Amino acid sequence: MSEPLVRVTNLQKHFPVHGGLLSREVGRVHAVDDVSFTVHRGETLGLVGESGCGKSTTGRCLLRLIEPTSGKVEFGGQDVLALGNKDLRALRRKMQLVFQDPFASLNPRMTVGAIIGEALTIHKLGGSASEREDRVASLLVKVGLKGEQMRRYPHEFSGGQRQRIVIARALAVEPEFIVCDEPVSALDVSIQAQVINLLEDLRSELGLTFLFVAHDLSVVEHISNRVAVMYLGRIVELARASDLYRNPQHPYTKALLSAVPIPDPKAKRARIRLQGDVPSPMNPPTGCHFHTRCPIAVPMCSQIVPETKEGSDGHFVACHLA
Ligand code: SF4
Repeated sequence: MSEPLVRVTNLQKHFPVHGGLLSREVGRVHAVDDVSFTVHRGETLGLVGESGCGKSTTGRCLLRLIEPTSGKVEFGGQDVLALGNKDLRALRRKMQLVFQDPFASLNPRMTVGAIIGEALTIHKLGGSASEREDRVASLLVKVGLKGEQMRRYPHEFSGGQRQRIVIARALAVEPEFIVCDEPVSALDVSIQAQVINLLEDLRSELGLTFLFVAHDLSVVEHISNRVAVMYLGRIVELARASDLYRNPQHPYTKALLSAVPIPDPKAKRARIRLQGDVPSPMNPPTGCHFHTRCPIAVPMCSQIVPETKEGSDGHFVACHLA
């Protein structure tokens, strides 16, 4: 495997919760709770878990769109959390975010050309006005649109086309690393595969590195080299995609996988239905966070946090019984 481009060590993000007449701090949401992983140059790491498990917060902490509470984030060996504003702005060019909702992330009053051109202007790229226009046109072609569409407004495009515009805007500044935060979950199923294929083509053509955040294991299966599964702020399993889908070790991963449809109608997979809801991240369960829903929990699970053990071929799992 290539060298790590991004290294995350013991990342934590706790959001204070205020209440009462004096708006005092009455608790803390443990959104990200001691998370460590690497993303290697040129790879796609899928980050998967149910809504509210902390995966989007993790992605935003890497770009410092949210300031982490503690831990370390390195990008190309640089300590991201130690950077001042000027150095952080320079680094932001290399680290981009593709948002979940292409409807909300494009300014409806600007033409597509102005939206993409703005990214070039902010980072002092693109040269003269005509050079910038040429660059915008070639970016639109790169994402499967037409150069002349730069004069149109976002509302004139479909959802899938808008997400292509968001991707073109991210590519405009020639990033090395892109956090794709549920980039297809707001799109029709028929369009999702097209956008995923586009991202995959761009990754190999431009040598990009992706953190691909999704709530569904089936979405990340084909695009990810490795997959990390998150539950209530912690990574519970991380492995090569083929290994994780063929041989899941953690009971939570097994439950998530059992809900993924199999293309072969004759093949059967027993559905594991988890009891109850995900507990509140304001008051997460002691020991293993998953013990309140785990079908194989034993008494020690509610007392002791399981260590993350490394099995063969970089397969990590955090479970006392794995
Ligand atoms: Fe289940 Fe215990 Fe493993 Fe947690 S540590 S996943 S509760 S068996």
